[in-house]
Amino acid sequence: MRETGKTKTNTGHRARRRLSTACACALWALLCCLMMTTACAADAGEKATREFFAMDTYISLSAYGPDAEAGLDAAEEEIHRLEAVLTTESEDSEVGRLNAEGTGVLGEDGIALMRKALMVHDMTDGAFDITVYPLMRLWGFPSKMYYVPTDEEIAEKLPLVGSEQITFDEESGETAFSKTKMAIDFGGIAKGYASAKAVQKLREAGISSALVNLGGNVQALGGKPGGKPFRVAIENPEEDGAYLGILAVTDLAVITSGDYERFFEKDGRIYHHILDPATGRPAESGLHSVTVVCSDGVMADALSTAIFVMGEEKAAAFWRENSPAFQMVLLAEDGTLFVTEGLKDIFETDREITWISTDA
Ligand code: ADP
Ligand code: MG
Repeated sequence: MRETGKTKTNTGHRARRRLSTACACALWALLCCLMMTTACAADAGEKATREFFAMDTYISLSAYGPDAEAGLDAAEEEIHRLEAVLTTESEDSEVGRLNAEGTGVLGEDGIALMRKALMVHDMTDGAFDITVYPLMRLWGFPSKMYYVPTDEEIAEKLPLVGSEQITFDEESGETAFSKTKMAIDFGGIAKGYASAKAVQKLREAGISSALVNLGGNVQALGGKPGGKPFRVAIENPEEDGAYLGILAVTDLAVITSGDYERFFEKDGRIYHHILDPATGRPAESGLHSVTVVCSDGVMADALSTAIFVMGEEKAAAFWRENSPAFQMVLLAEDGTLFVTEGLKDIFETDREITWISTDA
C-alpha cells in the first residue's frame, strides 16, 4: 500500500510533473507566441500615420513599431516649431526680424540652415542663393499677389542678390547684410531641413522605420519593417496622378523641385517660383523637374533647387564633380528623362532613360 501509496504518490508526482511540464510547455508556447507577436508588432505591424498642413504644404508621416504614435507626436511638434522659426513674412520670426532689420542673431536652426545655404551657394556658383528674396517679393510669390515686373524693376533689385554680401559668424549666429533692403528666404531648403529634423525626432523616439513626406519631398528612416526598401514614386508633372518612376530607398531623402509646383499664368505665359539669381527671373534651364536623392535631406533640397537653375548640362558636370554624394533624376521640357548611373539598381520606370555616367 505504502508502495502503491508511494507509487500512487509517485504516480501523483509524475502526473503533476507531467502536468506542470505540459503547463510549462503551454506557457512557453504562449510566451513564444506573445514574443513573436510583439516582435511582429515592433517589426511589421503597428503602422501609425499622421496627416496635417504646415509650412504651406500637405504633410504625411508614417512610422512603424510600438513607439510609432509617440514618435509621430514628436515629429509633428518639431515641424510646427520649425515653421514658426522659419516663417519669412512674420516679424516675430528669427528670419523675419533679420529681414526687417538687416542684422540679427540666428539660433541653432538658423545657424544650421545658413551654413548649408552658404555652402551650397559656393558649390553651385551661386545657382542656389537665399538672397533672391527681394525678387521673390517683387514677383509676388510670398503674398500670392502675382505680378510680372518690368526690366527696370528687376534691374533695381538685382544688386541686392548675392550671398557673398552676407556676413555670418557660425559660432555666435551673428548675421548682417551689407545692403539695406537685402532679405533672405530659406524656402529652397526649409522642407529638407524640417524632414531631416523630423526623422531625427523619430529616431530619438526609438523608431527605426518611418517615412516623412512634406509635399512630395520624402525622407526615409531605415527601410520597411522586415528590411525591404520603401518605394517612393516621383510625380510626373506632364500628367496628373501619373509618375515618372519609382525609387527603392533605405535611409535616403528624395526631394523634387519643379516649375509646376508653384506658378502663375499671365498673358499665356507661365511664371514659376524658382528664380535664376543671375537674371532675377524664373529659371529657364530647359528642365521641368529635378529629383535629388541623397542621405542628407537638407543637401537634397538645396541641390534640387540649384540644379533646376543650372539645367541638364551644368548639372551633369556638377554631378560628376561631386559623385557619389548625391544622385538625380531630371525631366527635361522635351520629355527626355536623364538619370545618373548611381540609381541603376534602385530606379524603376517604363520610360526610356538617358543615363548620365561618370565618364562624360
Ligand atoms: P518647393 O519649396 O516648392 O519644394 P524648392 O525647394 O525648389 O521648391 O524651393 C523653392 C523656393 O526656394 C522658392 O519658393 C523660394 O522661396 C526659394 N528660391 C527660389 N529660387 C531660389 C534660388 N535660386 N536659390 C535659393 N532659393 C530659391
Ligand atoms: Mg529645394
